[in-house]
Amino acid sequence: MSDNKNLWVIVETNQEGKAVNVGLELMNPGRRMADAIGEKLYAVIIGSGVDKAKEEVKEYGVDGIITIDNEVYKDYNTEVYTDAIEKLVKKHNPNIILIGATNLGRDLGPRIAARLHTGLTADCTELDIDTETKDVRWTRPAFGGNLMAMILCPEHRPQMGTVRPGVFKKEAVGAKDEIDIIDEDITFDGEVRTKILDFIPREEGEEVDLVGAEFIVSGGRGLGDPKNFSIIKDLADALGGTVGSSRAAVDAGWISHSHQVGQSGKTVGPRIYIAVGISGAIQHLAGINAADTVIAINKDPEAPIFARADYGIVGDLFEVVPKLTEAINKR
Ligand code: FAD
Repeated sequence: MSDNKNLWVIVETNQEGKAVNVGLELMNPGRRMADAIGEKLYAVIIGSGVDKAKEEVKEYGVDGIITIDNEVYKDYNTEVYTDAIEKLVKKHNPNIILIGATNLGRDLGPRIAARLHTGLTADCTELDIDTETKDVRWTRPAFGGNLMAMILCPEHRPQMGTVRPGVFKKEAVGAKDEIDIIDEDITFDGEVRTKILDFIPREEGEEVDLVGAEFIVSGGRGLGDPKNFSIIKDLADALGGTVGSSRAAVDAGWISHSHQVGQSGKTVGPRIYIAVGISGAIQHLAGINAADTVIAINKDPEAPIFARADYGIVGDLFEVVPKLTEAINKR
């Protein structure tokens, strides 16, 4: 049995020094797995001015927080962050490390794993743990999403994985009475070979924020024509929501891939998800597991989407959706 103990969630921070959502989402499965094997949950925060994030993570039931707060960590840099986490891991020997599969996490995770000569399961969509061996059962889509693979890392510690944003729900369970706060005085000794010159905000409309959206209205092949996405947009606008789509609509060239929800698109967790003219294929449903309420509008009463939906309207979308939009706009 290895000496490695405890589960770490690496919490990414944004430009304002706040924790990004996926770090907080991972606290929930993190706590569940740590409890199941009698180990502790630690949040690990690296940056410059990390106090806000530190306060935020306390509310998620962590047993401890490890921070490195130093000017050199102000902006993300692969080399510098990898070095910092390698030093932390070698000092504290965690058993499990979870990282959000954001751009940063997808860059950082494999670097750390290579440095530590351990395995990393990328882009997980489910997490579970074997309580006897303490091996995490990492589940992720494989072979182009045609099957779900469960991956174990029995020979090496720490076990590492990146997890897709939006797969788990944020759940602030309140702060524990005692939290082990470890402020590490670590810095980077080498020469920093790259530096950030500037941050250029994305152009409006370039990318769609489906992952953080509270309301999503998605259109599928049932729309029949790209111009009919206008009725989806009208309903989304009435709700203050975002437009999503099925893959069939993307493949037909009706809308860009950044709107696609599902296994090979985005995983979303809105309060309300409205699927319009979408049959509910398993690959589409894989992207909406975390939605609170699903409403389906489809003319086929046998469409599989109704099995997942909390509310269903059997009818012609061209009649139902404009009426719904009108009713919402009147309120
Ligand atoms: P269809 O299955 O054709 O359904 C159209 C629906 O519209 C039907 O149920 C029909 O009854 C209804 N309809 C038609 N006209 C009307 C009307 N006037 N009023 C009301 N309802 C109407 N799919 C995804 O969505 N996301 C993914 O990420 C994804 N990844 C995939 C990955 C792999 C590896 C594979 C193999 C497939 C993937 N797919 C994905 C594709 C998936 O299997 C389905 O083909 C796709 O989701 C179907 O899209 P759809 O529901 O829009 O179309």
